[in-house]
Amino acid sequence: MVGASEVLEQAGAQVTRTTHGGRRRLALVPPRARSARPSTVSDDAGAAVAAAAPVGGESRTALVRRARRINRVLAERYPDAHCELDFTTPLELLVATVLSAQTTDVRVNSVTPRLFAKYRTAADFASGDREDLETILQPTGFFRAKTQSVIGLGQALCERFDGEVPNRLEDLVTLPGVGRKTANVVLGNAFGIPGITVDTHFGRLSRRFGWTVSEDPVQVEHEVGSLFEKRDWTMLSHRLIFHGRRTCHARKPACGACPVAKLCPAYGTGETDPEKARKLVKDVPPAQFDAPEGAGPEDVSPLGTLA
Ligand code: SF4
Repeated sequence: MVGASEVLEQAGAQVTRTTHGGRRRLALVPPRARSARPSTVSDDAGAAVAAAAPVGGESRTALVRRARRINRVLAERYPDAHCELDFTTPLELLVATVLSAQTTDVRVNSVTPRLFAKYRTAADFASGDREDLETILQPTGFFRAKTQSVIGLGQALCERFDGEVPNRLEDLVTLPGVGRKTANVVLGNAFGIPGITVDTHFGRLSRRFGWTVSEDPVQVEHEVGSLFEKRDWTMLSHRLIFHGRRTCHARKPACGACPVAKLCPAYGTGETDPEKARKLVKDVPPAQFDAPEGAGPEDVSPLGTLA
């Protein structure tokens, strides 16, 4: 049987395979290394965005340069930034992302091996036994609603997309339980089409960085997208989510141990003492922790000095 990775490779995508947590991970080579594919996300974002409004008197040029420098520094801190949901096919990623609502990726990853061993196709989900699915999904919370979602998802895929996960934003968002965030996760990570995933971490950090002042996820997506090349959108999303989960927490950001402190207008929102701050950081290996900060002396003032 031809697997998803083979199908993608036949379609021209470059695919790498790694083992992650005992499960095979299918990862597409970042779009940077490939010829650009048409992206409805990109077109959509590009059409809707004028530009992120500069804040604090910072020029547009300075804002873009600072944003891209932050992205580079975060790339050094989190060289392994990736989608933290385990999956091997677009369908698995779509289902896992739907299941991740109101719970952690770790919790989702704890149930999906059993789920995907039993439910392999959209048709399997469409005809799924409700009681069986509820039992499997119970640890993720809201399991009755999620059971309904995955059954409805399977039915919609079978009825309208021949059982295949579509690779266009406008199609994905018509599926039950699928919004722009989920759609962009699938586009960026299963199809290699650049997408910005505005979850709670991405939104919070974008505002702390002064990239936007908006609380509206769609506006955040558009404004932040306008600061970067499309090819960088997916990895930018991973890096901000990694940074939000590990260092720039909602309540206690570890500013004193933050690699982008010199570039962040919100420095001081959290603990600035280096020793205390370092204790707040989660899951960063010492080697990454001590990586060069990437910001030189010219970056001391985060606003208006980089143009
Ligand atoms: S300096 Fe503080 S607020 Fe800014 S990104 Fe770092 S941890 Fe977050």
